[in-house]
Amino acid sequence: MPAVINQETCTGCGACVDACPVEAIALQDNGKAKVNPDTCIDCGACVDACPVEAITME
Ligand code: SF4
Ligand code: SF4
Repeated sequence: MPAVINQETCTGCGACVDACPVEAIALQDNGKAKVNPDTCIDCGACVDACPVEAITME
């Protein structure tokens, strides 16, 4: 299952965007990161990269 980013706790730092090997994460206009579930390959790299533990594998 794809990664899901908690929109409450995400600080918009962009670390997950850089960590994702398939560019499945983008920063939105509201400054929060969001995963494209159709592109995500469930690797978990973004979970490890997030400094505030805002990403979980659903
Ligand atoms: S789990 Fe992997 S592929 Fe999916 S969004 Fe995170 S870094 Fe990208
Ligand atoms: S690494 Fe975490 S806090 Fe930073 S943009 Fe990604 S989800 Fe948000």
